[in-house]
Amino acid sequence: MTAPTLEAGLDDEQLAAVTAPRGPVCVLAGAGTGKTRTITRRIAHLVSTGHIAPGQVLAVTFTARAAGEMRTRLRALGVSGVQARTFHAAALRQLRYFWPRVVGGQQWQLLEGKLRLVGQAAARVKAGTDAAALRDFAGEIEWSKATLVTPDEYPAAVAKLRRETPGPAEQVAAVYAGYEALKNRAEMLDFDDLLLHTAAAMEEHAGVAEEFRDRYRCFVVDEYQDVTPLQQRVLDAWLGERDDLTVVGDANQTIYTFAGASPRYLLEFPRRFPEAVVVRLQRDYRSTPQVVAAANTLIGSARGPVAGSRLRLIGQLPPGPEPDFAEHDDEPAEAAAVAKRIARLITDGTPASEIAVLFRINAQSEVYEQALTEVGVPYQVRGGERFFNRPEVRRAMMAVRAAGALDAPLVDAVRAVLAPVGLTPDPPAGAQQRAQWESLLAIVELAEELVALEPDADMPRFAAELETRADAAHPPTVQGVTLASLHAAKGLEWDVVFLVGLVEGTLPIQHAEGDDEAIEEERRLLYVGLTRARRRLALSWALSRQPGGPRRRRRSRFLYGLIPDEHPASRVANGGGGRGAPKPRCRVCGSPLIGADSLKLRRCADCPSDVDVELLDRLRVWRADEAKEQQVPAYVIFTDATLTAI
Ligand code: ATP
Ligand code: MG
Repeated sequence: MTAPTLEAGLDDEQLAAVTAPRGPVCVLAGAGTGKTRTITRRIAHLVSTGHIAPGQVLAVTFTARAAGEMRTRLRALGVSGVQARTFHAAALRQLRYFWPRVVGGQQWQLLEGKLRLVGQAAARVKAGTDAAALRDFAGEIEWSKATLVTPDEYPAAVAKLRRETPGPAEQVAAVYAGYEALKNRAEMLDFDDLLLHTAAAMEEHAGVAEEFRDRYRCFVVDEYQDVTPLQQRVLDAWLGERDDLTVVGDANQTIYTFAGASPRYLLEFPRRFPEAVVVRLQRDYRSTPQVVAAANTLIGSARGPVAGSRLRLIGQLPPGPEPDFAEHDDEPAEAAAVAKRIARLITDGTPASEIAVLFRINAQSEVYEQALTEVGVPYQVRGGERFFNRPEVRRAMMAVRAAGALDAPLVDAVRAVLAPVGLTPDPPAGAQQRAQWESLLAIVELAEELVALEPDADMPRFAAELETRADAAHPPTVQGVTLASLHAAKGLEWDVVFLVGLVEGTLPIQHAEGDDEAIEEERRLLYVGLTRARRRLALSWALSRQPGGPRRRRRSRFLYGLIPDEHPASRVANGGGGRGAPKPRCRVCGSPLIGADSLKLRRCADCPSDVDVELLDRLRVWRADEAKEQQVPAYVIFTDATLTAI
């Protein structure tokens, strides 16, 4: 591979990051500006110019799919052998290797779900043990471990942060301590332990650190805005005294602060490494100007610490369709309408793999799975371990395990083993059979992927790989429409994106209510969602959960400003309709507006403000300090009550 090819298709700023010499590099940029492309090219550039061997690079991505995509992109650039993994997968691998030396004895087992042990620990201290309480405790344990807070430190840590806790802090700490004790006694490690033990192995065993640092010399981290203190500790352990680290991120896509992540490592990177090459990108190469405009509008009204790092995206692609909005009576109706549109898009030539349905919580997936099955569209659910629970996948794994060492070449052997499970040469006709067939095919593709990385891999090695993936809940890619939570969609892109369930209580999620920072994180989640679309963006919501149920739901506050005035959905949702012109209503609370039409100045009867709501609609809201910083020529200072109402 020659350098000019690697440099083609990069703008000047991207090129600066790609060709910077080995050492600290930081790319701070918005969605779709080519951050991932830039780091992939940088790795390829460093390798192809002989600055580093592929095996000495460790690239960390946020999802297994992103890691797979990076490896594919690198191979397309003529580079293979680079380790691209998630933090957890990298740690899992290292720990399996180092464990006998640093701990000895039996290998541990990976603990998948922690609720059972959390339940036992909660019962011992007479804390709540209903499903919601256990989930809350588990969430607190995860947050604590990700932010390096021990059970003993927990009460002081939450008091300092004024963090809301599910019950008295001492009680949560006791559940946390009990959970740790039970888990350790069972010789199990949870996901966070993988990282903790990896860091500790390197911090405490000079030999381990030396061996590792001799092997890996160049580190690259994608989505660095969402790194946790625990992950940062692992990264620091990997680095040691060295500084060959490239990070890229977008503070506006920070969506894991609830789990302990913090954009501060990204924002402080230039200070930590004053000699770093720092690049800012603004041109959006992913989406049409229509999608970019929606994203800019949404993030333009962000508040809070990351808003200061706001960069407006500048669309580079030719225009496409305007985003569309649809209001439905109930959730099944919304899902049916989305499925029908998807089926039509596929008939009209859009590949199923170019379509995604994104939602806030995994529970929303089911109604879409049903609706898609009904119209016969194959799909995959991302970010869930459910793939490995599918009956055909369990049967496939059993067959692979039972096969033993056959070594026909692995991929052929896997095909043969899966034939009795239902892997016919051609896709079957029925919708359900088709979906099962796609799962089996995904397993074959996994075997292909393994052989590309490890040409000598045999069936037992493949069986082990499947186990590891099932343990780590890293399903392979199934060809079909993607159903994913907004969290799982980070970094990915599709031609067509359906953002569904946009109602108050779901997005923003109910428990964010009353917590300004949590609401801002919900806004950033929607920003991530909007910016996944290359061309077409469809947003929808339903007024009731069940058919015939009370139509009590309100569309999401974040749609305010995104829906154009003339759109029918906006009139429906604003309480207009009927004969003649719709009655003007406040965009904030839905009350009638008072004021003279001729003046085009109207005021809301109910909002606790004396602000002209129509005018407000056309204004951008700035915080006073931001307005000064950005040199906005004129600004009005709103009262707190007004801002709350907005
Ligand atoms: P996100 O913040 O969502 O992770 P990103 O900044 O990582 O986005 P990429 O995924 O790298 O963005 O790029 C977005 C899209 O734009 C990709 O399809 C990529 O191939 C394309 N792209 C990036 N840079 C360029 C460029 N200079 N010319 C043309 N296309 C580009
Ligand atoms: Mg990216």
